[in-house]
Amino acid sequence: AAPKLQDAKLFRQQAYVNGKWRDAASGETIQVTNPASGEVIGTIPSMGAAETREAIEAADRAWPAWRAKTAKERANILRTWFNLIMQAQEDLAALMTTEQGKPLAESRGEVAYGASFVEWFAEEAKRVYGDIIPPHQGDKRLVVVKQPIGVTASITPWNFPIAMITRKCAPALAAGCPVVIKPAAETPFCALALAELAERAGVPAGILNVVTGPAKEIGGELTSNPTVRKLSFTGSTEVGKLLMEQCAGTVKKLSLELGGNAPFIVFDDADLDAAVEGAMMCKFRNTGQTCVCANRIFVHDAVYDAFAEKLTAKVKELKVGSGFEEGVGQGPLIGPEALAKVEEHVADATAKGAKVAVGGKRHELGGTFYEPTVLTGVTPQMKVTDEETFGPVAPLFRFKSEEEAIELANATQYGLAAYFYARDLGRVWRVGEALEYGIVGINTGIISNEVAPFGGIKESGIGREGSKYGIEEFLEIKYMCMGGL
Ligand code: ADP
Repeated sequence: AAPKLQDAKLFRQQAYVNGKWRDAASGETIQVTNPASGEVIGTIPSMGAAETREAIEAADRAWPAWRAKTAKERANILRTWFNLIMQAQEDLAALMTTEQGKPLAESRGEVAYGASFVEWFAEEAKRVYGDIIPPHQGDKRLVVVKQPIGVTASITPWNFPIAMITRKCAPALAAGCPVVIKPAAETPFCALALAELAERAGVPAGILNVVTGPAKEIGGELTSNPTVRKLSFTGSTEVGKLLMEQCAGTVKKLSLELGGNAPFIVFDDADLDAAVEGAMMCKFRNTGQTCVCANRIFVHDAVYDAFAEKLTAKVKELKVGSGFEEGVGQGPLIGPEALAKVEEHVADATAKGAKVAVGGKRHELGGTFYEPTVLTGVTPQMKVTDEETFGPVAPLFRFKSEEEAIELANATQYGLAAYFYARDLGRVWRVGEALEYGIVGINTGIISNEVAPFGGIKESGIGREGSKYGIEEFLEIKYMCMGGL
């Protein structure tokens, strides 16, 4: 059933193209279900390449007037959008928990986190500075300006239905670029509610579009259409590679936030209680379905048993259920495939000798609920070592030296987030610098915010989101050489 909202207009079952709420040309729709109950929430239009092209063309037509606005004018519209998102925090959180499943408190947190990018980039819009370069010849002057890249596309995942959109759209709009968004089919209603609020905030027709429907068709148009100059994607490494290939034909600028395989290292000088708390936050948040979730937990031999015991005790306290229920700390997995992957990883690990300290099976609530799980005696031969589980499973590996921990941690093609707990100052620097990751959390399990650069290296992606760097992704550098002075 549809969620009960204070502002019923935030529940939109149409796509938003060129400032109009629209159905698919074919009239076809796709159902969206609540992962906690399996109930149908509503439908979205099943649009394809033709509607996507219309959105791109509308964006292109709207672009000149948007880029011609002063940064302050764009900033004011973004600031209004931020205020409207925060005013609608309860409704947006309810929509999110309904379509995504995360506990309501996490949804509220994501709305605020998502909105923070809109606030931040409203501010950053005014700080797109260029350079004046001391010339190499006396009769020349060299000037560098930054200009909006043009029409941009955003393809976003279901795990953060609001934040993954604002993190891309806010800097694009701030820089002076229009956007065409393809949200995940699992969580389109948050995206559509954001579009409704953007319209109310005064974002002009064509500047922000949301197209819903089959990923391949919409993605095919977004990646091949030469008018689109930039694609910003968050999702799996597999799809990211495919989109990168598809963008090659028109040499689009790319930002990719792909999979991770985050190590979480607990050294023997760590504050164990703090490490347990950090592991709880970064492993079980969003039912383990974030790209920065700890995927491999490496614990020093001397503190392994103590850490395992403390973590297991905490995990036992975690209440599983519908995100709307009081006290629930873990919701359902997003779908049957996610559940199957978690089951496969646990089965593989236990077949190869790992022990289940807690959990290890589907939850009695049924559906896609899975028990929060701790595995001990995990070894590098198990699937959890190389593949992102994307579920509530904490596999504990044992190590004996700092060098070994670093080597194990870096032995992956991924390089998004890493975490470690240690108190020795020399070790903190050594390990922090040695980890081949875009983000390193030291004595903390929570690293995401709007003011710092988020992004990965190696096969985890290209580019950074948030921070002063985030807006650069939507700007081109132009160098003007003035001669004959
Ligand atoms: P996840 O595991 O998070 O679902 P995906 O990479 O499959 O990761 O999905 C992330 C986003 O990419 C979603 O919006 C999805 O619809 C979209 N997507 C998936 N396959 C394609 C594709 N072939 N072309 C374009 N977009 C795609």
